[in-house]
Amino acid sequence: MRLRDLFFVTGTIESTGFLAGRMRRLRIACPAQSWKPGQQIRISVDGLMTRRSYSIWDGDDDGLELCVLDHGDGPGARWARTAEPGQELIFTKPEGSMIPRPAPYHLFVGEETASVAFGPMLRSLEGSPVHAVIEVDSPDECLPLKDVKWLYREGASAASSEPLVEAVRNLALPAEPGIAYVAGEARTVQAVRAHLVNDRGWDRRSVLTKPFWTPGKKGME
Ligand SMILES: Cc1cc2nc3c(=O)[nH]c(=O)nc-3n(C[C@H](O)[C@H](O)[C@H](O)COP(=O)(O)OP(=O)(O)OC[C@H]3O[C@@H](n4cnc5c(N)ncnc54)[C@H](O)[C@@H]3O)c2cc1C
Repeated sequence: MRLRDLFFVTGTIESTGFLAGRMRRLRIACPAQSWKPGQQIRISVDGLMTRRSYSIWDGDDDGLELCVLDHGDGPGARWARTAEPGQELIFTKPEGSMIPRPAPYHLFVGEETASVAFGPMLRSLEGSPVHAVIEVDSPDECLPLKDVKWLYREGASAASSEPLVEAVRNLALPAEPGIAYVAGEARTVQAVRAHLVNDRGWDRRSVLTKPFWTPGKKGME
């Protein structure tokens, strides 16, 4: 085995398309990977040193499926926009700790990019008590997910989203805390956590957060 194979996986783009609105679906053919719902891979999108993280939307013994938001200009968005079947790619093995934990109920909060990570988590929790609030730009950007309360920004910024925090504030949750998974734009993630911890009295350890991006920053991990 080559040293590189210990840390990196080589795959090939098998097909591309759209899952919803600007959400670009990429199917990667690669050796079977061991992964948990909520985990991500880190892909070399423009030479080995420019890497971006993408959540695993789905996977099987023959490959993985991603869903990348075409937000505009950036090496990651450009890579996803121009990816073509047959193209080779190198990525890290699946990793990440925002995975479903045992809890009386599960709360999901985030936006488009977070909804990709939430997909397999929600599917794995089918039958368990779940509350999910996801804000997207418009109705055509909703991924096929069950039992989600969708909010629409209609052109407003996803950063520091007060309507998303307000929607969580208005949720009728049980009195005792569950576990929350909060992901997506970093400042909104912070605001949602502050609400759960300060206003609802949740323990910080019950709020799993993962900032995916924020205006002015490149390639968060
Ligand atoms: C753990 C993890 C999992 C992730 N999973 C996904 C995923 O499944 N799907 C996905 O699309 N992204 C996901 N991301 C975000 C992804 O890694 C990139 O940050 C994103 O694609 C932007 O990369 P870029 O190179 O195009 O832009 P960058 O060069 O990284 O950013 C340039 C600028 O573009 C703007 N920008 C970046 N992202 C957005 C956005 N979503 N909306 C509006 N403006 C933006 C910001 O102003 C930013 O400063 C994930 C990130 C992390 C850390």
